[in-house]
Formats: sequence, structure tokens, C-alpha cells
Amino acid sequence: MMYSGRNLMIDYDLHCHSNISDGTLTPSELVDRAAGRGVKVMALTDHDDVDGLDEARAAAARHGMTFINGVEISVSWRSHTLHIVGLGIAPDYPPLVDGLRTVRSGRGERARKMADELAKAGIGGVLQGAYQFAENPNMISRTHFARYLVEAGHCKDVKSVFNRYLVKGKPGYVPHQWAILADAIGWIRGSGGVAVLAHPGRYMVGRNGMGKKTMHELLTEFVELGGQAIEVVTGSHTPEQYAEFARYAEEFNLLTSCGSDFHGPGESYRDMGRLPDFPLGCRPVWQALLLQ
Ligand code: AMP
Ligand code: MN
Ligand code: MN
Ligand code: MN
Repeated sequence: MMYSGRNLMIDYDLHCHSNISDGTLTPSELVDRAAGRGVKVMALTDHDDVDGLDEARAAAARHGMTFINGVEISVSWRSHTLHIVGLGIAPDYPPLVDGLRTVRSGRGERARKMADELAKAGIGGVLQGAYQFAENPNMISRTHFARYLVEAGHCKDVKSVFNRYLVKGKPGYVPHQWAILADAIGWIRGSGGVAVLAHPGRYMVGRNGMGKKTMHELLTEFVELGGQAIEVVTGSHTPEQYAEFARYAEEFNLLTSCGSDFHGPGESYRDMGRLPDFPLGCRPVWQALLLQ
């Protein structure tokens, strides 16, 4: 299937972050920004935390936008870290609440280890520095480390900090065990949500990335476990990747999702706002969501 986008923009943004996880805007500021940039239907999908949803929903109502409860769950699968977005979840579903608490609970210790490793590499004071950037200390993340290291003058931007210090093989990278795939999908589905494989193109990048065979195995397992959708249009995909993952969606009979994955002004691949339409033949995830 050739990429045959219809040159239309869609006003759904179903993936973004507030300062409840590693975004820089409050949930209300994020929704205001989305509304101002033409978004009509949005989901807030903070990493491993649903605490921003009430505030975001109230802000969306003031703008007359449709709001969808979301979350982005960190998962370890084989040697890879995956992100599974849940859309249309019930944020008070006890297994989801407990599961997310467990996922978050490892972050403090990982942060300490990361700071120790960076100290060995000659960069001190990072733990305290990173926490200054974390509005929600339970959700301390590599992004907060990156922002601090930029402020402290070690790199010119967040992206360079990741490349130099925070990815596999670099001095500040600490392997971590996140949720297992079956649990993440189970919590989402159990709460009435749709499970979406987030930004699949990112899992195939670089030396540690998965090849096509492994992507097929992942999608086979994802579907068997109850996964229903895949992100096709996301801030980190090229138009060629829209086409590539539209083909995977067709092959695995998955709905397709779209979102900016916005984290903050000046820091993300893509701002909140309208997104390029899907390639022809995709079945948008809102066919399932808006029926709920
Ligand atoms: P964590 O959950 O603490 O491992 O942090 C993961 C977050 O770091 C992602 O959600 C992204 O926001 C950010 N991130 C991961 N890799 C990169 C990268 N190469 N460049 C910039 N940000 C990244
Ligand atoms: Mn993030
Ligand atoms: Mn992600
Ligand atoms: Mn994200």
C-alpha cells in the first residue's frame, strides 16, 4: 500500500503528556493549548499515572472538546521497553490503580542508581537536580534527568542528553523491569479501555532496535493478549512509517490511532494540534472509543 494521505488534517490528538508525568505543562495548560490549536477530541496519556485526568477533563469541558481518559504504561518485553497506551479507561478500576502504583514504585530506586552511575562518570548532584524538575516525584523519569543536565550545561538539549547519557550502552542508563505485556493489556481491557501499541517505529531504531521478524512476533502476541490498536500517525513517525504501520494494522486487523506525543513547547517532535490523516484503508480507533 503506497502512502496515500488525503492531505487532510484530523482534529484528534490521542497521546500527550502533562507534568503529572514528564510533560512540562499542567493538565489544564495542555488542554488549553490543544483547544487553541484546533484539537476537538483529545486523550491525556501520562506515563504510568492517571492523576491528571480529572483536571484535564474539566478543562476540556470548558472548551467544548471531547475528552478521553488515557494512560501510557511502561512495559518490558524481551529486551525491549514498550509503551502501551490505554484509551477510554476507567481510572478508578482497582487492578489498574494497583498495577500503575507498582509500575511507578520502581522509579525512585532506578533514579538513585542512574545518579550513582552518572556520578561515576564524573557528573555529580544529578539526583537532587532531576527531582527539581519532577512536579510529581513518584513519576521521576529520564526526561527530568535530561532537563536538569541541559540546565547544568552538560548538553545543548534534551535529545543530546539521551543520546550521550541515558540510552542503552551509555553511562546513565540503568536497565529496569517494567510491567509485563499481559498485565498492562489486562488492566486496560479490564477497565473498559482499548489497548494501543504506542509509536512502534521507535522500537525498530538503532543497534538495539527490533527487526521486522520480532515486530511480527510482538504484534502476534499483542493481538493474542487482547491488544486492539496501533499508533500509525505519531510525532516520531515519518510519512513512510505512517504507510508502513498502516500495513501492519491491516495485516493484524488492528484499529489505528494518532497522537502528537507532545511533552512541552520546544521539546517535542510535534506540537499538540491537528495531525495528518491516516493512509487510506485504516480504521480509526475512535470507531471503538466513541461507541463506549
Ligand atoms: P522513562 O520512562 O523514565 O524511561 O522515560 C522515558 C521518556 O523519555 C519517554 O517517554 C520520552 O519522553 C523520553 N525519551 C526516551 N527516549 C528519548 C530520546 N531518545 N530523546 C528524547 N526523549 C526521549
Ligand atoms: Mn515521555
Ligand atoms: Mn512513549
Ligand atoms: Mn508518550
